[in-house]
Amino acid sequence: MRRKIVAGNWKMNGTLEECNMLYNQLAEKTNKFSPDVEVMIAPPFLFLKELAEKQNKKIIITAQNCANKEKGAYTGEISVSMLKSIGIKYIIVGHSERRLIYGESIKDISEKIVLVLQNGLVPIFCIGEELNDRQCGEQFSVIENQLASISNLSPVLFEKIIVAYEPVWAIGTGETASPEQAQEMHAFIRNKLSEIYGSLAQQTRILYGGSVKPNNAAELFSKPDVDGGLVGGASLNADDFLKIIDAAG
Ligand code: PEP
Repeated sequence: MRRKIVAGNWKMNGTLEECNMLYNQLAEKTNKFSPDVEVMIAPPFLFLKELAEKQNKKIIITAQNCANKEKGAYTGEISVSMLKSIGIKYIIVGHSERRLIYGESIKDISEKIVLVLQNGLVPIFCIGEELNDRQCGEQFSVIENQLASISNLSPVLFEKIIVAYEPVWAIGTGETASPEQAQEMHAFIRNKLSEIYGSLAQQTRILYGGSVKPNNAAELFSKPDVDGGLVGGASLNADDFLKIIDAAG
């Protein structure tokens, strides 16, 4: 049984006060969370420590990114071991905004994944095709190519990974993949992973991300290979995010 995950990515939004307020609004409702759903939020780096200190088992504080180097002269970067030292256990890696705006390559992302796993943390590994790829019918080959970042891991490391399928054309656009499109791609991803890792891929949680909202979450999450969601915009509104958590339970 794969336990569902609903993860909110707050991106570069909110002041300390606003992030605390949003966290508190969610924390007040944790008694309503279904035990079948793991809830995560990924606030901006600067507020991670404060929120990580408040975190209970019901809301897991997650990082949005990490460096692809262990330590040293990398101005502005934040290492996996730094994140680990403040109690972070999950790190989003390879978000399309990192790939497209900051030029992260498949190699950078592979390096991050290895560092995260070697430190005993869990990467939430994001992949997704752009609109043009889908229009040209190349979405499956693009995803296969991106999966190369996790194709050479030992089974012990692989089994920890969480994958998030996030079609770039659906991120922040209000356009969502249909539940059928999501299921088709999730099944493809699981199938590709099982070609390498066999039955371990049956345990891999594959989240869908891309304009998940209260009105589409339940249908997306009802698909057999959709194990929850990575939520951007709707996670900035406590009521909407709580509805999405409910839809997963
Ligand atoms: C995201 O950025 O991971 C995301 C899914 O954003 P949104 O829900 O706003 O499309």
